[in-house]
Amino acid sequence: MTQNDDILIVGGGLNGPVLALALAKSGFGVTILDAAERDTHTDPDFDGRSYALALASCRLLAAIDIWDKIEDQAQPMREIKVSDGRAGEGPSPWILHFDHREMEEGPMGHMIEDRVLRTALQDAIDAHPAITHLTGARVTAQEVGPSGVTLTLASGDTLSGGMLVGADGRQSGTAARAGIGRKGWGYGQTAVVCAVSHEKDHGGIAHQFFMPAGPLAILPLTQRRSSIVWSETDARAAELMSMDDAAFLDALRPAFGSFLGEIALTGKRFSYPLGLTLADSFIAPRIALVGDAAHGVHPIAGQGLNAGLRDVAALAEVLADARRRGEDPGSAGPLGRYQQWRRFDTTTLAIATDTFNRLFSNNNPALRLVRDIGMAAVNSVPGLRTTFMREAAGLTGDLPRLMRG
Ligand SMILES: Cc1cc2nc3c(=O)[nH]c(=O)nc-3n(C[C@H](O)[C@H](O)[C@H](O)COP(=O)(O)OP(=O)(O)OC[C@H]3O[C@@H](n4cnc5c(N)ncnc54)[C@H](O)[C@@H]3O)c2cc1C
Repeated sequence: MTQNDDILIVGGGLNGPVLALALAKSGFGVTILDAAERDTHTDPDFDGRSYALALASCRLLAAIDIWDKIEDQAQPMREIKVSDGRAGEGPSPWILHFDHREMEEGPMGHMIEDRVLRTALQDAIDAHPAITHLTGARVTAQEVGPSGVTLTLASGDTLSGGMLVGADGRQSGTAARAGIGRKGWGYGQTAVVCAVSHEKDHGGIAHQFFMPAGPLAILPLTQRRSSIVWSETDARAAELMSMDDAAFLDALRPAFGSFLGEIALTGKRFSYPLGLTLADSFIAPRIALVGDAAHGVHPIAGQGLNAGLRDVAALAEVLADARRRGEDPGSAGPLGRYQQWRRFDTTTLAIATDTFNRLFSNNNPALRLVRDIGMAAVNSVPGLRTTFMREAAGLTGDLPRLMRG
């Protein structure tokens, strides 16, 4: 099989398909390859996550005609309440409160379930005439020439394009094959993720409880349901995963509290080991990295995918502008502009999430005092609150055109 598309994207997770749609909208031909077999990603048992999508990310999805297909299944996040807690004691009264009514753009973002987003993306890339979607296609080698890149698949087939984008996740083979090193470490924490239904309405309020072993996030979904992201030590998470549903709920209740009434599990539990990974460079000759392939962060602030989508919007803009100006999109100039745009921001995000996790995932009384004073201080200054809300909504900094709405 030989194909000569403009741009090859390795990785059909979340960032890869969004990039394919954004590039196709600008007139590029795109081939997207994923090692997973067709329909794996849209199987309800594949991934239990739900994502807090910042307003800027929702705008990007609107620009590529995905948002109108999922909006009715997305839950607006109207408020965020952050509090401190101790195992077995339940949460303290909230000490940091963000309310979207203080921001003129509306809700800071929306919660969307993984399977809803993936299904819409898969349908859209399958239907787009400028996108070739290859599944069950594991890339094993890549060769970069002066004007293009050739990929070799596990099947032995080869495929050529003008440039290559690695959207192949935290263990990016694209980066490794290009000789790009990475820094990173594990946190000794695992996130246990599930969805619960509850008696009372959540009112679109997201809660983050900082517990000594890691944060517990209760994030509003549609129809009186919430997504739980419970970061615990690896050992405790393994215990939680091995419990039957009743024992798991008994363990969850003291941390969750009773503010939403009686709770029940609505599906399976999933677990994700947590760590940080940052590529030493986001580019190599004729290659760019986006999403977790470039930076994988702790979910404490719900920003990993949002940061990836910002890479996607920035890269799509840089490549489209290059083409319009008659430049070779895969050449050093455009790729350098992409790296300059995104690397500093994502490094800052990685450092911030790492620091927050260290500061909040412990029971040290002095640190508890420092963080409680810090949160109370932010809470008491309206200007500072709004700045944090705009940051969470993804509206700060140099916004790519596709995220401006
Ligand atoms: C518990 C948890 C909660 C989270 N919550 C949020 C949140 O609320 N908000 C938020 O913004 N972010 C959140 N995130 C982060 C978010 O999930 C990730 O940033 C996002 O899923 C990364 O997507 P990706 O497309 O970059 O990579 P991936 O989803 O890892 O996709 C990589 C793809 O590459 C393919 N691939 C790999 N190697 C090859 C190969 N050799 N050949 C072909 N294909 C290959 C794989 O099959 C895979 O499909 C959370 C993360 C966790 C762990």
